[in-house]
Amino acid sequence: MFSLAKLALVGLLGQLCLAQMNSLEGVRVHDAPNYTRVVFDTRSKLNYQVFTLDNPKRVVIDFNDTAISQKLAPWQVDSRVVAGIRRAERQHGIYRVVLDLKRPVKSPEPFVLNPVRPYGHRLVIDLYWDSSEQKGVVQAQLDSQRDVVVAIDAGHGGEDPGAIGVNKVLEKNVVLSIARGVKRHLDAATGFKAVLVRAGDYYVPLRKRPQLAREARSDFFVSIHADAFKSPTVSGASVYALSRKRATSETARWLVENENRSDLIGGVGKVVLDDYDESVAEMLLDLSMDANLIHSIDAGETVLAALSEVARLHKGRLEQAGFVVLKSPDVPSILVETGYISNPSEARLLATSKYQQRIARAIADGVQEYMRRNPPPGSLIAVLGDSNTVRHLVKRGDTLSEIALRYDVSAAAIRHANRLHGNVIKTGEVLIIPRLGQES
Ligand SMILES: [Zn+2]
Repeated sequence: MFSLAKLALVGLLGQLCLAQMNSLEGVRVHDAPNYTRVVFDTRSKLNYQVFTLDNPKRVVIDFNDTAISQKLAPWQVDSRVVAGIRRAERQHGIYRVVLDLKRPVKSPEPFVLNPVRPYGHRLVIDLYWDSSEQKGVVQAQLDSQRDVVVAIDAGHGGEDPGAIGVNKVLEKNVVLSIARGVKRHLDAATGFKAVLVRAGDYYVPLRKRPQLAREARSDFFVSIHADAFKSPTVSGASVYALSRKRATSETARWLVENENRSDLIGGVGKVVLDDYDESVAEMLLDLSMDANLIHSIDAGETVLAALSEVARLHKGRLEQAGFVVLKSPDVPSILVETGYISNPSEARLLATSKYQQRIARAIADGVQEYMRRNPPPGSLIAVLGDSNTVRHLVKRGDTLSEIALRYDVSAAAIRHANRLHGNVIKTGEVLIIPRLGQES
């Protein structure tokens, strides 16, 4: 009877111990610029040891009198410092957690936090990056804030004049001048750099054009044309994305035939005809191209909208056709037909530098708008963020009035948006450029 009571008491104590055992409920990892914070949530007050082990260096946390919560999901971390979190019950009542590290850290400085809503008991471990390494990391971060590279392809050139319009206006000359204008605008914008696929009056084979863009590590490819049609009444600007099926309109079919014949005219021989054989490799690229095409269509629509502000449109919507220059599997690519030099009034306009520059500005604006909405990871525009805000990095020699002129806003609006009291701006300063109509 007595022994039975004793057994019951032991059993009761066991139950009490279990009830008093702490429980690990969760973990969070936050990367700060120079340290990483790891936070453990526990049900009750903590009893723990933290130490490091070498080869490879790792941080070990032993939680005493602790069990794992049933509801704790597998721990996944995405951190610049913590490579992974392992856990195991070491011996009865001691629960061990190991942080595997991606980089050297100073000795950890753990501390506990008492419950504050919405949190309960917490153990915090700050892992400070080893400062000898830190400098390199910061530099790498700055280096990674690269410019977005836009490849601008002026159609035709050299032996291939492209379309020959009214008053002997040559497509190759009109589009080179527009391409140079697009480059000027993009180079002036913070976070953008433009490269010309063709920088003078020479011919570049069609297949070579997207290849040159890729070699320049371009994020975007825009081919610029100004074509002719058999009927002089046809006019207006168009934007194309690739279609691997049939062209979407009769004009488009006619243009594709003409543009894709360029290699014959430009002096590449029968390359184009050979390329109509669909190879297995090309079919394997299909999946990647489909994803790229979605981006190209989005970009094309954005550029078309920008063009609609300065030019008459051929059709009110993006068209698709099988232009050879658009067949890049991984760089969003569009082709802009700036107008028809077979139409007398459009030929006159396109021959003037004023109209060429208006078109150039619209193309540059559309490309920027699209890229700001889809900034490549690691680019400066991704860091500057906020796709609705245009920002300007002040370069040496910039003046407020010149910047205002460049973005078509008043100097007063820029002063207001940036809380400037005078006209003094500093090199390296980032100015918010208010949009037209947002000047109040
Ligand atoms: Zn052309």
